[in-house]
Amino acid sequence: MKIIDGKAISAKTKEELRLEVAALKEKGVSVGLAVIIVGDDPASRVYVNNKKKACELLGIYSEEYALPADTNMESLLGLIEELNTRKDINGILCQLPLPRHLDEKAVINAISPEKDVDAFHPVNVGKIMIGDFDFLPCTPAGVMRLLDESGVEIEGKNCVVIGRSNIVGKPMSMLLLHRNATVTICHSRTRNLSEVTSKADILVAAVGKANFVTPDMVKEGAVVIDVGINRLPSGKLCGDVDFDNVSEKCSFITPVPGGAGPMTIAMLMANTVTAAKKQNNL
Ligand code: NAD
Repeated sequence: MKIIDGKAISAKTKEELRLEVAALKEKGVSVGLAVIIVGDDPASRVYVNNKKKACELLGIYSEEYALPADTNMESLLGLIEELNTRKDINGILCQLPLPRHLDEKAVINAISPEKDVDAFHPVNVGKIMIGDFDFLPCTPAGVMRLLDESGVEIEGKNCVVIGRSNIVGKPMSMLLLHRNATVTICHSRTRNLSEVTSKADILVAAVGKANFVTPDMVKEGAVVIDVGINRLPSGKLCGDVDFDNVSEKCSFITPVPGGAGPMTIAMLMANTVTAAKKQNNL
């Protein structure tokens, strides 16, 4: 069994991007990202801080807009509108979830598809569907990178994704399908889940429940990718997979923390660089 080191693969990806950002700078092209956070959700705060740190590391200019929890739609959309027109801002992301009184769908729709580095805008989601996309769906693209860097073959493999969210499960399934895997999507209404998952050569868990994937659900020699991030009552982070017991059956497995998590930010940075290049006709 091999543990896939997401931290190392993320560091390697970011180093490649750092060099690319430096080369762009030589050509007079700077890369800029605007991050909007509304309210004071502690998890969102951690994610936004990490995004800011990654920008600093890569030489990407970043701006943070920390708006109060009672911000209204008008001012949020006004800010997005302004950022859409700014030449020095190539990517815009609004950290989700938003406070309940705000219309998340309208916010996603307001971000210009050319600057939508989270790839949540319907235009970008549609492009992912047809396999002709500029922006990678960050978390699923991070998983693909982990598989590729580990030398895991995807074509023709049985891949099972547990979870059908718009952020992880669905785009994950599409990326695997584009790489010629046979893909099954499981969700909360799936019957005989373990029967389906135990046929997987590659199993991706994106459920949000600690220790959800147990050894009886996993085929001997399978590759198991754990996207889940759950906080135990002790405060400790863990994934969706019962790591200690499942790892004994796997050929490859990702840990939590240190697996899929660090890749998401690396892919966000990749999208920001892509946005800058596209906007400068490169
Ligand atoms: P979500 O709540 O939107 O979706 C969870 C999915 O799990 C749903 O589609 C649901 O049908 C499925 N599900 C729930 N119970 C199930 C059951 N009993 N059997 C089968 N399927 C079941 O969550 P999400 O946004 O997709 O996130 C999933 C997990 O991934 C969370 O833990 C989240 O924190 C984590 N996540 C990690 C990253 C990262 O960067 N690594 C990014 C996004 C989300």
